[in-house]
Amino acid sequence: MGTGQLFIDLEAVAANWRALDRLSAAGCETAAVVKADAYGLGVVPVVTRLAAEGARAFFVASAAEGIEVRRALGPEPRIYLLYGHMAGDTETIARGDLVPMLVSVDQLLRHLESMPARPFGLQLDTGMSRLGLTEAEWAATREIALEAGPALVMSHLASADDPENPANADQLRRFREMTDGIEVPRSLAATGGTLLGEAFHFDMCRPGVGLFGGLPFRDAEPVVRLELPVVACFDVPAGARVGYDGTWTAPAPTRIATVAGGYADGLFRALQPGLEVMAGPVACPVRGRVSMDLLTVDIGHLDADPPHVTAIDDRRGVDAVAAGAGTIGYEILTALGRRYDRRYRGG
Ligand SMILES: *Cc1c(COP(=O)(O)O)cnc(C)c1O
Repeated sequence: MGTGQLFIDLEAVAANWRALDRLSAAGCETAAVVKADAYGLGVVPVVTRLAAEGARAFFVASAAEGIEVRRALGPEPRIYLLYGHMAGDTETIARGDLVPMLVSVDQLLRHLESMPARPFGLQLDTGMSRLGLTEAEWAATREIALEAGPALVMSHLASADDPENPANADQLRRFREMTDGIEVPRSLAATGGTLLGEAFHFDMCRPGVGLFGGLPFRDAEPVVRLELPVVACFDVPAGARVGYDGTWTAPAPTRIATVAGGYADGLFRALQPGLEVMAGPVACPVRGRVSMDLLTVDIGHLDADPPHVTAIDDRRGVDAVAAGAGTIGYEILTALGRRYDRRYRGG
């Protein structure tokens, strides 16, 4: 064994996609966002399972990711590029039959010049100031853009994980002002927007993190379990300093399990203090600093040395772990290293 095992439940990914699909308005398509190697879980197994479940539209960030999805799924599904049409990508976009979601006037001109007959979509900035045409740019270019026949017009919500945030209604109003009356399919909602209700759904919802069991989709089925092997166990006396800098000193004699897994595998140093792992049903505190590939775990209260511990499971999901480091489940998921042996269920 030697390395940790990341168990990924593709049945749960499929169930989460179905659940989000049921939540969306009648006539609204549910796509799947699978950028960053499907949030770190492996894009090929994930898209293969979702396509079998009925997903027909996928969003990736880069053209290289798009090619990977195209290879896995064949010619039928639509694959949208969130980075749009970047310089140097023209040939890859054509080869992969990818739909660039253009993010700027420069990209619009590049696309219409270099591949005028190929499908494209447009991103509009409704208040996030990250990607997309501003209101002024849209006003100046919408006639040319609409004449070229975009396949989809979309924008992205900055605060959709907080239903009370007035920015949501404000972005919705701006999106409607910019797009009401055009005869092009529209999309505004990611996971958070899907949960905000039908006014946000338009023609397509594009959830990502909710598929993988992360907040803000509270009802998601858990998708990942991270199991780390125990390398060695030993008794320590009272007063022993544990780990780099001896940030934890044993107040009484106890037993320490040294576990394979550390910050190089996505278990951030910032998770300490407060990180716990599970030995079966029993919580065990991690003591001292997280090392590059090791954790030191207090098992003084266990009856026997465990062969492995779990750092993420159904009871302690990615968001619970993330909270300990002041971050979000997205960051924990995408940081889970490729060094883990990935095991899929339900492929
Ligand atoms: C990442 C992303 C999504 C998916 O967001 P989730 O919050 O993971 O559901 C949707 N749209 C855009 C533009 C994105 O960048």
